[in-house]
Amino acid sequence: MIELNKINAIGLGYGELALKGKNRGVFESNIKQRIMNKIKNYDADLINDMSKLYVYTNDTNIEGLISDLKKVFGINNMNFSVRVNTNEKEIKEKILEIANDLYLKGCRTFKVEVNRGNKKFEKNSMDFAKELGAHILINSEFTKVSMKDYDVLISLDIRENTYIYTEKISSYGGLPLGSAGNGLSLISGGIDSPVASFLMAKRGLKLDFVTFHSFPFTSEQALIKIEELVTILKEYNLKSKFYTLNILKIQQAINQETNKAYATILTRRAMMRLAQKIAKENNLSALVTGESLGQVASQTLEGLNCTNECVKDMVVFRPLIGMDKIEIIELAREIGTYEKSIEPHEDSCSMFAPRHPNTKPTIEKVLEEEAKIENYDEILDEIYKEKKTIIVK
Ligand code: ATP
Ligand code: MG
Repeated sequence: MIELNKINAIGLGYGELALKGKNRGVFESNIKQRIMNKIKNYDADLINDMSKLYVYTNDTNIEGLISDLKKVFGINNMNFSVRVNTNEKEIKEKILEIANDLYLKGCRTFKVEVNRGNKKFEKNSMDFAKELGAHILINSEFTKVSMKDYDVLISLDIRENTYIYTEKISSYGGLPLGSAGNGLSLISGGIDSPVASFLMAKRGLKLDFVTFHSFPFTSEQALIKIEELVTILKEYNLKSKFYTLNILKIQQAINQETNKAYATILTRRAMMRLAQKIAKENNLSALVTGESLGQVASQTLEGLNCTNECVKDMVVFRPLIGMDKIEIIELAREIGTYEKSIEPHEDSCSMFAPRHPNTKPTIEKVLEEEAKIENYDEILDEIYKEKKTIIVK
């Protein structure tokens, strides 16, 4: 409503962060770092005004700045303010200017709301709101204040400085990146795993990534696509390590030595084992997958139990477990991974996928099949040794 080019302060509201008691200090310094990182390329400063964070800015690319700040987890809402000194004359001048602009834009009724954090300012909120309402009515084209069905709400936040805004938006909320620890996300080129990664990063889990391919049966291009997905996620998750492992050897062994109906589950288990090894060696304390209950044959309850059985030492987060595909797609669009995910690619899994997978595997049967691969551990060790690491920054 207020023209973006007039905005010179963005107010940042915490959500859950405010509740975190003892940890609040740590969380705050974390989120400040994340914000600093986002604003470093703009003409902008981070200011603490009476315990509320503001980004003061003279940058012409306000839209870009807002969009970048939206990606900082832990920020719950933002208001887009015009900042003035906390003195009555300046406030009145500025609010009138804003009101005139709003009138020109077609607003015909308004309400003024004042929040006075700064008690050094003498007038109380109710009185001052009324006074400002009257001031606007007398000095502008507006003829009507409305307490309920107003066209625009003009809010004032009186602190060391005073902030006038008409627009407040929600952002993702969550917890500051890294505040929950570090994890390893199993990312494939599909729609799901990037969304799962986003959701866990939102809960404060800083992620590294791993993908499994079957080169030369899968292409270099497929890997580039996944690296591009990791690059999109960098907007939220910042710099990360991206591990790539060629699992062709174990896939071939599975293909040759075990019952075909178990191929997918056995491949999944090999992936989980390898991921766990990487995680342990790099102090990452959780795995993340894009599994969703019932979505495909390997994600039945029985399938998930069999996949899960080989992860002994850390939690596996499956944030999409209860989500419908439509919800996942919606989120993928929102976070910017969807278009990349739907580009065609070969999947290392689908290549050896059985025509009739067993959708109700038992752990006993899976262990029996797995035991048929005599040099299983050696094969995994070899795969692990040949892993490659890319830094995405
Ligand atoms: P996605 O859309 O993420 O590819 P999907 O619906 O295709 O998921 P599956 O192929 O069954 O589901 O994979 C389930 C999960 O296992 C993925 O979300 C991902 O976390 C992990 N995964 C599957 N294939 C790979 C792979 N080649 N490399 C790394 N992780 C994988
Ligand atoms: Mg997939």
